[in-house]
Amino acid sequence: MNPILEQFADIRVLRYEVPGFDKLSLNEKLLVYHLAQAADAGRDILWDQNYKYNLLVRDIIERILLGQQHKGKVDENLLTYAKRLWVANGVHHHYSNDKFKPDFSQEQFDEWYGEYIAPQVAPAPCDPYWSPLNFGTRDSILETHAYSSEGAYMSEDIKALMDDILFNPDFDAKKVSLADGVDLIKASAVNFYEGVTQQEVESYYKDTTDKHPLNSTLVKTEDGIVEDVWSLSGRYAEEINRVVSHLQMAREYALTDKQRETIDLLISFYCDGNNTTFDEMNKVWVADSNLKVDFINGFIEVYDDPMGIKATWESVVELRDEEKTKHVATVAENAQWFEDRSPVAPEYKKRNVKGVSMNIVNVAMLGGACYPTTPIGINLPNADWIREQYGSKSVALANIEGAYHEASQSSGVLDEFAYTPEECERARKYGSEADDLHTQLHECLGHGSGQMKDGITLDALKAYGSTIEETRADLYALYFMADEKIVELGLLPNLDAAWAHYDSYMRSGLLVQLSRLELGTNIEESHMRNRHLIAAWALEHCEGAAEMIVRDGKHYIHINDYLKMREVFGMLLKEIQRIKSEGDFEAARNMVETYGVKVDLNLHREIKERYDALGVAPFSCFVNPKYELLRNLSGEVVDVRIVPESDFTTQMLAYREK
Ligand code: ZN
Repeated sequence: MNPILEQFADIRVLRYEVPGFDKLSLNEKLLVYHLAQAADAGRDILWDQNYKYNLLVRDIIERILLGQQHKGKVDENLLTYAKRLWVANGVHHHYSNDKFKPDFSQEQFDEWYGEYIAPQVAPAPCDPYWSPLNFGTRDSILETHAYSSEGAYMSEDIKALMDDILFNPDFDAKKVSLADGVDLIKASAVNFYEGVTQQEVESYYKDTTDKHPLNSTLVKTEDGIVEDVWSLSGRYAEEINRVVSHLQMAREYALTDKQRETIDLLISFYCDGNNTTFDEMNKVWVADSNLKVDFINGFIEVYDDPMGIKATWESVVELRDEEKTKHVATVAENAQWFEDRSPVAPEYKKRNVKGVSMNIVNVAMLGGACYPTTPIGINLPNADWIREQYGSKSVALANIEGAYHEASQSSGVLDEFAYTPEECERARKYGSEADDLHTQLHECLGHGSGQMKDGITLDALKAYGSTIEETRADLYALYFMADEKIVELGLLPNLDAAWAHYDSYMRSGLLVQLSRLELGTNIEESHMRNRHLIAAWALEHCEGAAEMIVRDGKHYIHINDYLKMREVFGMLLKEIQRIKSEGDFEAARNMVETYGVKVDLNLHREIKERYDALGVAPFSCFVNPKYELLRNLSGEVVDVRIVPESDFTTQMLAYREK
């Protein structure tokens, strides 16, 4: 099945298959089914977390779009803008964090607004349940207002607000700002804080006893700073209620007692919002590592909070790929061997690597922050103390990586950016295998490795924490991928496969990934920063083992001495681990700002031109499959069937029906 469904702006839409689903028992299929529903149900939480007006914008754009569809005259630029919104879960680009501009004009929007929206806006009575867009009952727009403490808007306010969001580039321009020397909260449009400054947040969370750092909006009120907790009795209650009701059905089909306990604890957490309950849930979840069907659901990653405190909502439902998992079990079994030989200082190594489990899975459903753009590997939980005492779970998403690879086969990117035909050939031969192993090492060994100095926590690095952590995990993978042990264990056929990966890592970090960045902007996203940081630092410190070469006006990276490069990655790993373990904020800032942020404008322009000429969108996102219950004549469910989704717009508009 060709995974590419369509392409627009800088995005390709892919679909994934779910190998193994048909072989599940009915009980297992029903578990997947209900967990998948729960993964769908929290979508709007993420939209609102990303930006307080996202639900408003989505609603208005979709209403105009539906109106145009109804009349059979859909404007292409409007449709593209709607698709970009869906991809990003809001008005800011999912990767660059910059607000993107619509291709339609202000005049066009005025006209559409007048035609499809304004007639439905009623005058404002003083009714708390009044919806400014008079579409019947309480709908998403009212929820938007319920979430903001600013109250409802008059109709003309909404139009003015929409104009600002769509056409004023300076208005809430950045989703997450990690810029040095500014108030990160003021500079970021994400919706985790209301009326508080960075300093107030820092001092509020100095002590976290009886607080909800992960799952609350911190609001300044007349009585001081309070947390509006994301729970059944707090903010997002309606969405959380939907998630919980699906989890309650899923628990009936749990595969083990532990899995049932995990679901029960998760439900309790959603009820009371208590972070201790969430930790308890994670402990049980981590211990239950031998599962055919597993899931992630909750407030998980803190990348989108410039303070690195608040977690966005996400969910993934996954089926274990038995064959592939057997193959990499060896990685986890040898975790201590690797840790003992890691180049980091002895005091920052983990003496007893525990419970590192690695599953190769096929995704059955993506939700929240993992949809429609998704990671390819996940390691959880994030709480360092749980990882240290109870271990963690790692998954590599095989069917997602598979779809990426299939889609990239014909793109021409490799031929354009590789320095020699031999490099190309080697990349074709080993690239997919080596990439998979990188993900496994990154998730399974990298994130789980190392030890903090007593009394130091990861948030010491503030806005640089995520980048430093990703850097650390990538370096661990790069360093050990080229260890003879890997070949001995049968994880790679030979070291040539590792060198192919070194080529591709340097090429991507310094050159290819710049295609994802708008010309003239700095690198903001943590993973992109980390790749640039590693490649730029290594290039500078490798004493000619790798070089940047200009041929016919085009830049290339060429590695002359792979073993030396391995050594250099090891040196950097040692320093990055020290920075993390000691919570050395100044060193983290210096490292990231020097090597991870800035891009040479001329080089950037060249890369974009070369990439654009290939006509390949630099980002990909996914549509989810649909699951259908099959019933017999007496109404009993006899099977669950997958229906592949054929259209991105259809899938996105279907959410309005839910
Ligand atoms: Zn990572």
